[in-house]
Amino acid sequence: MRYLGCHLSAASGFAAAVDTAKSIGANTFAFFTRNPRGSKAKAEDAADAALAMDKLGNYGFGPLVAHGAYTMNLCTADADARAFAADILADDLRRMAALPGNLYNFHPGSHVGQGEEAGIGYIVDALKKAIAPGYPVTVLLETMAGKGSEIGGSFESLRAIIDGVGSNDIGVCLDTCHVYDAGYDIVNDLEGVLQEFDRVIGLHWLKALHLNDSKNPFASHKDRHECIGKGSLGLETFRAIVNHPALQGLPMILETPNELAGYQKEIELLNSL
Ligand code: FE
Ligand code: FE
Ligand code: ZN
Repeated sequence: MRYLGCHLSAASGFAAAVDTAKSIGANTFAFFTRNPRGSKAKAEDAADAALAMDKLGNYGFGPLVAHGAYTMNLCTADADARAFAADILADDLRRMAALPGNLYNFHPGSHVGQGEEAGIGYIVDALKKAIAPGYPVTVLLETMAGKGSEIGGSFESLRAIIDGVGSNDIGVCLDTCHVYDAGYDIVNDLEGVLQEFDRVIGLHWLKALHLNDSKNPFASHKDRHECIGKGSLGLETFRAIVNHPALQGLPMILETPNELAGYQKEIELLNSL
């Protein structure tokens, strides 16, 4: 099964977002759990979440891939800011439990000069505190472009977080723009990169993908998303990805610079490959 979707607003509720996704030919989607550039979250609505769960089942959707706020840096240098970020993570996970069986993805964080090892330690601490045993949502670490002091630009750093947390309720979301910008050549050697992912992390930890072309060249460590087929990855790379046997059944989310109509066209394009 191929699950394709895009980022959608959940401002009018999850159930409405499921219908919007269906209307553009998507069978999964992503949404921000709170203001992506701030920390404010909307009021919880259990009836809406239950209705959304019904619709997801009835429509045969794949898992949703929620996204944590960009501002949530679990390994920032200031202890108070770090504790605030950890509280935000815990609150996000508590809220996400209303949508059991789905996925929650976030950016591991930037260590801002403290070093990767210290940063990974803080991320692990926050995750251990936030994930209770039997938690119904899988928490995903996103592969990052390695911009500045970003953690997650190497498969090894994600492996270290997974090992540190020691839970099965965790996984990885592979962002195509980010890994290419980070120096994993999925254009010329997708097979080799997936083998490397398998060797370092293990492919069974891969639970979702973000499908984005890149505005920048290989290994640029930049992180600027481009529309599918219009950047340095190119359409053939996406043809290989959406048809790769190891990636079947994983939700694939577009985070390209588009409005709804543009996303609909990209989903049609990817489905035609
Ligand atoms: Fe992201
Ligand atoms: Fe992403
Ligand atoms: Zn990005």
